Amino acid sequence: MTITDISFSEFIKDFEQTLKHLFHEKEDINQLSLERGLPPSMMKDILSMKPLSVAIPEQYGGRGSKVKECLGLLAAASYESLPLSLTFGINIALFLEPVSKYANEGVRQGIFTRFLENQNMGGLMITEPDYGSDALNMKTFNTEVENGYQIKGTKHWQGLTGLADYWIIASRQKSSNGELGRDIDFFLADNTIKQQQVVVEELYDNLGLYMIPYGLNKLDLEVPANFKLQPETTGIKMMLDILHRSRMQFPGMGMGFIKRMLDEAMIHCKSRIVGTGNLLELDQVQFQISRIQAAYTICSAMCARSSRISGIEFNLAMEGLEANAMKAVVTDLMQESAQILVQLSGAKGYRISNIGGRGIVDSRPFQIFEGSNEMLYAQIADMVIRAMKKRKEVHLFNYLKQLPLTAGACLHFQKELSFSIDGNLSQRKLIDLGRVLGRIISIGYVLDLEDKGFRKDLVDNCVTLVKQEVLSLMAAFNSDNIVKVVDGYTENSSWMAFV
Ligand SMILES: Cc1cc2nc3c(=O)[nH]c(=O)nc-3n(C[C@H](O)[C@H](O)[C@H](O)COP(=O)(O)OP(=O)(O)OC[C@H]3O[C@@H](n4cnc5c(N)ncnc54)[C@H](O)[C@@H]3O)c2cc1C
Repeated sequence: MTITDISFSEFIKDFEQTLKHLFHEKEDINQLSLERGLPPSMMKDILSMKPLSVAIPEQYGGRGSKVKECLGLLAAASYESLPLSLTFGINIALFLEPVSKYANEGVRQGIFTRFLENQNMGGLMITEPDYGSDALNMKTFNTEVENGYQIKGTKHWQGLTGLADYWIIASRQKSSNGELGRDIDFFLADNTIKQQQVVVEELYDNLGLYMIPYGLNKLDLEVPANFKLQPETTGIKMMLDILHRSRMQFPGMGMGFIKRMLDEAMIHCKSRIVGTGNLLELDQVQFQISRIQAAYTICSAMCARSSRISGIEFNLAMEGLEANAMKAVVTDLMQESAQILVQLSGAKGYRISNIGGRGIVDSRPFQIFEGSNEMLYAQIADMVIRAMKKRKEVHLFNYLKQLPLTAGACLHFQKELSFSIDGNLSQRKLIDLGRVLGRIISIGYVLDLEDKGFRKDLVDNCVTLVKQEVLSLMAAFNSDNIVKVVDGYTENSSWMAFV
């Protein structure tokens, strides 16, 4: 029997049981998480279940790159360990899916076989020390040589630094006069071949996600011509397609993580007696745990939506609105869920071996990488405002009412959204508005899931809580504030001089 003959429910059940055995019986994940890297034998045991087969097309021996299966796998992993889930997320969204879609036909089989049979892994190199958010200005360059391309530059913060067998590397073409082209090219590199090896100059002391190595990578490689990824149109559009698909897979990583925060919070608050009763009887605790439940509901709805729209058969280059909304909102919810669990756990949550405390640190960079959330929220607002201008519509509610993505959800926010947008908004207001829009889009997903039969009490609670959040975000949006940082603030500001 091969991996493709097993039903997904059986496959994921086996995988969950293996993780439980490895992390709770054979070893203790709470202790393992405090060490950098994962013992190679443990990684071998995990990869022997062929988890990455979910992202390999059937004709190459995989389970067929079905988004539902990819998200299911990410969720199963993140219930036990967010870093393990991110390890799979990197391999799936930043390597295997781009290879399935854009790699030369002749090189795909070899790569997929090594993933399936030899437990290989791959990652993506975009960020450079001087170019992070401003990635399009990257300085790593490629030049055409006799049988392929030479790539030179410096990258940093790549997940799986020093561990990945393969990389996809972003660079700009250097012309004969030394100028760098505006488009971005992507190349595969096989780290087992000397000319293609990336040199790790430094390993970073990442604050969390200890299982995943990060660092500074020096590139001076030569790769064969068929290692260049082949865009459908431009390289930038290919990059957007890859990044948007990856952002739409964040809910998979969020799903298991948020569920774990919820389960831990419930278990703790049911058993912890304070005064005459347990914590769960307190009104404030009910409110806080309901917020994690709302996160659970939103994340479930995003997974369902993503499963329908983010497969490799679709081009997502133009789907920034949904991709940004899913990534920014779900990562905010992950961080908030971990913060709530720690608060409810009291001092116990402050132990480094506690999953809540680690959850805060491990989920925090999700708000920074693959587009910092502020940047994504600003882009969401910007996209909506531009579309409104195109339709010559200045009234936000009227616009959202005719947009299929928000038509149902916006009815719950009619009062808050009934205003006109004219003139330019400051960046801070764009971000506030983007936060609001991201939450309204999310409620649209939740209502869709309710239509399919998801339980109504969770949906009703979720809508109520998001309404409350939108109200407070709109208060921020409506308050006039152009406060600027005071330079040289120490002059005449020492309290001691006034006592
Ligand atoms: C744990 C982790 C994993 C990562 N994994 C990878 C990986 O696998 N591959 C890879 O190539 N890179 C990876 N990165 C790098 C990551 O993508 C970059 O750190 C990110 O793009 C931000 O770039 P920067 O660090 O240079 O910050 P900067 O670009 O200097 O930005 C710093 C901050 O400034 C603000 N800011 C910047 N621009 C704007 C704007 N336009 N509007 C509003 N605010 C703005 C934001 O708050 C931002 O967080 C990872 C980073 C971390 C921390």
